Amino acid sequence: MDLKYVQTTCPYCGTGCSFNLVVKDGKVVGTQPYKRSPVNEGKVCPKGTYAHEFVNSPDRLTKPLIKKDGKFVEATWDEAYDLIAQKFKSYKPDEIACLSSARVSNEENYLLMKLARGVFKTRHIDHCARLCHASTVAGLAASFGSGAMTNSILDIAESKCVFVIGSNTFEQHPLIGRKIMQAKMNGAKVIVFDPRYTPTAKQADLYASFYSGTDVAILNCLMGEIIRNGWEDKEWVSKRAKGYEELKATVLKDDYLPENVEKVSGIAAADLKKAAEWIGTAESSSLLYSMGITQHTVGVDNVKSTANLQMLTGNIGKRGGGVNALRGQNNVQGACDMGCLPVVFTGYQKVIDEAVHKKFADAWGFPDGICEPKNGYEVTVMFNVLTENPGELKAMYIMGENPMLSDPDLTHAEHALEQLEFLVVQDIFLTETAQHADVVLPASCYAEKEGTQTSTERRVQMWRTAQNPPGEAKVDWKILCEVAAAMGYAAQFPYQSAEEIFNEVAALTPSYHGMNYERLNRPEALHWPCPTEDHPGTPILHIGKCSHPDGMGVMHPIEWKPPAEVPDAEYPYILTTGRCIWHWHTGSMTRRSETLDNEVPTGWIEINTEDAKELGIANKEMVRASSRRGKVEVEAKVTDEIKKGVMFMPFHFAECAANVLTNNALDPIAKIPEFKACAVKVEKITEA
Ligand code: SF4
Repeated sequence: MDLKYVQTTCPYCGTGCSFNLVVKDGKVVGTQPYKRSPVNEGKVCPKGTYAHEFVNSPDRLTKPLIKKDGKFVEATWDEAYDLIAQKFKSYKPDEIACLSSARVSNEENYLLMKLARGVFKTRHIDHCARLCHASTVAGLAASFGSGAMTNSILDIAESKCVFVIGSNTFEQHPLIGRKIMQAKMNGAKVIVFDPRYTPTAKQADLYASFYSGTDVAILNCLMGEIIRNGWEDKEWVSKRAKGYEELKATVLKDDYLPENVEKVSGIAAADLKKAAEWIGTAESSSLLYSMGITQHTVGVDNVKSTANLQMLTGNIGKRGGGVNALRGQNNVQGACDMGCLPVVFTGYQKVIDEAVHKKFADAWGFPDGICEPKNGYEVTVMFNVLTENPGELKAMYIMGENPMLSDPDLTHAEHALEQLEFLVVQDIFLTETAQHADVVLPASCYAEKEGTQTSTERRVQMWRTAQNPPGEAKVDWKILCEVAAAMGYAAQFPYQSAEEIFNEVAALTPSYHGMNYERLNRPEALHWPCPTEDHPGTPILHIGKCSHPDGMGVMHPIEWKPPAEVPDAEYPYILTTGRCIWHWHTGSMTRRSETLDNEVPTGWIEINTEDAKELGIANKEMVRASSRRGKVEVEAKVTDEIKKGVMFMPFHFAECAANVLTNNALDPIAKIPEFKACAVKVEKITEA
């Protein structure tokens, strides 16, 4: 028996835990602790424990598929490439759009970005960061000049006060939750504000539930209390921030007095005052948030407000402080870093900057040039264009994304995909999106290739090859090289290894300049920015100065605005959505993991006990939940652990898809949809 252990990085959340894959006779059969990772020190959550189970699922795609007469038939790779090349050559650049993936490696994201801009010459490339943290990228960049989590995961344990708003950290990023507990054991106060009494909330010293969509009012209230009591960090504000007087004038308005914000948010004035005191007087205070803050039509405002609070209290560029935006998927940070966004190349170098555009065009050497130096469409805009202006976008290449379950208003998303003349999906399973494709390319999972991923704390870590892809499936970066070759650009995609691709990324990306596989091949890896080969990496950003050219942080005065859709007589409840600890995003991997799927085999809707009584709904009863966009039948979970008037659904489950109900109203800057607040009604299902 051939048995070996291959150290790698978890393919699920953005925490970036490491473990060993157990490989028996060439197949991945289990996971084992890897104790040298400073991130997780040998511990993993249930998803990490069973991260081997989906790898050899019988559902894995093993051959290319081409749709003929509405049905998929198996094809050779050459047949698939010939069809893709013939079709994509027939479209103009602006008729093509590409979606990259928060699941695949940095190297593969970089190559899809190069394929889009260099081979297809389209400006339209984006990925699912648009749906989770586009507001973080925009909001933190406006505040600090860099749109990423400011401090490291390890640093959270150093904090004297941890304020969690819009994150169920213990279920979504469990090994970051462990750092919150370490801070608490070291004497930190933990504050959790959330509409649900989550496992994270249960560990708080101060917990308050609130109405989804009132974050700016809450944060302004906290800042007003801090200023009124003289708890602000006057030195930090005077030396390092711009915009204080405007911010002060806003947050001191009567609207944001605790007694008034209690009426808007549902948080008792006394709790708001206590939270302000704990945050304002702590030696250091760390703020953690996730999609509860970002997935709103005011997502960028919410993010800027978190930054305002942390600047006001001097908790930027400081140990135990920071605005810690917890990124969702394993490599959503890396996909952004690799320029899979419609406005930037790698390292957030602007597409519209002519010097940057020339730098990439020169380095890539396409004889017929690259895309125009213009911004492209965000994924949410692509889907709106498809339905509102049919014929403008005609073809799409989707690598490792499943918008048919992850996008808001799924009826609209399906209608949009149906408008395409030609859709290519590169994935490991025949997902809900792949079922709409004209060509499906069987790809590889994290256990089948070498590469890097960048976790939420900007730590760039390695994947290592544990087994071969199944059947005729191929490693994603090789597929992209072969598509480029079929399009006539083999010379621009000459790579023989993932390392060669990474070296090209590092050469073109200032924040990755000092990285190479030799340096990353160690337990602690490296945090970007790492500008030179002797630079140790940067676990904490903005020490001494922010990343704006003048080094200053920018405070933004922000007024609270309600969500785009609020409860009314017809749809009287607020629906918010999220994840559970056993599943991940659209469930394409976790629902094919026997252990995880056995734990939670389907979805539910959480209904407050009093609301359920008024509606005559019993626990575990099937109910119909409806919004202005659609309806789903789903099991009721009647509980006191959700605020009256608010309902919650996990979004992993196709058979009761929460996103049939959600609203695709967008933040005007980040173009992120308002997943976290829409109006719904819930009814008993009566026999026809
Ligand atoms: Fe994987 Fe995240 Fe769990 Fe760590 S916390 S094992 S990265 S899912």
